[in-house]
Amino acid sequence: MNPEERAQSDDVFMAEALRQAQRAYRRGEVPVGAVVVREGRIIARAYNQVELLKDATAHAEMLALTMAESVVGDWRLTDCTLYVTKEPCPMCAGAVVHCRLQRVVFGASDPKGGAAGGALNLLQFHGLNHRCEITAGVRQDDCAGILKAFFAERRRDSSVSLARPPDPSADGSAN
Ligand SMILES: [Zn+2]
Repeated sequence: MNPEERAQSDDVFMAEALRQAQRAYRRGEVPVGAVVVREGRIIARAYNQVELLKDATAHAEMLALTMAESVVGDWRLTDCTLYVTKEPCPMCAGAVVHCRLQRVVFGASDPKGGAAGGALNLLQFHGLNHRCEITAGVRQDDCAGILKAFFAERRRDSSVSLARPPDPSADGSAN
């Protein structure tokens, strides 16, 4: 595959990860989506489900990796690529190294908490026994945009509830 073909297929697979992120958004989850691709085919797709499952480890990447392991029938995902809309956190990057993925492609960078070169780089850490290829910034605007929209909406909702007038019954008892 030449670089141009690869960029095109990265776009296509990231579009599916974005569709997963939109599913998370509609369910009130932080909108992050992921897919795992093997031999040019999507073998696993998932979105963040921390609230739904009440599980802080239920990030899109973790769910997609578990699904991919079960499809492949092995914990080694050496010929797989993970596409994820946001740069993986340290937990997910750690899981990626354990599963020995060949490559990680992400959209939005996370300079504060990202572990694929943003805040730190666990995917290419010299002390670990596996290193992945990283491609950053695929459909970055779309991937970052959905996160921005989600958090802006959340802030609006919380400022609305803060601006609500005091409880009328409490008012009445004061008079
Ligand atoms: Zn994560």
